[in-house]
Amino acid sequence: MLAERIRMLPFYRDEQCYIWVGGHDSNGAPVLTDTGQRVLVNRVVYREFVGPIPGGRVVRRSCRRLDCINPSHLYIRDERTKWCDSIG
Ligand SMILES: [Zn+2]
Repeated sequence: MLAERIRMLPFYRDEQCYIWVGGHDSNGAPVLTDTGQRVLVNRVVYREFVGPIPGGRVVRRSCRRLDCINPSHLYIRDERTKWCDSIG
């Protein structure tokens, strides 16, 4: 359902960024409503185009555009990296 909707998401391209033109939450982050629930667009886009988001992780942008939903500009902030480094 979301996968179908994501291809009709309202955005326009601005150079490398995909600028969201839909709704926003109180922090100014892009949100959409799915089956009555508001969800962060960046998380939806990341799951759809990049991969699953491990529990508790936060999706960040590598660019400075708060409205950008370009999957290639999204990454997961992995706060356990230092632990993985010390283990591996
Ligand atoms: Zn961007």
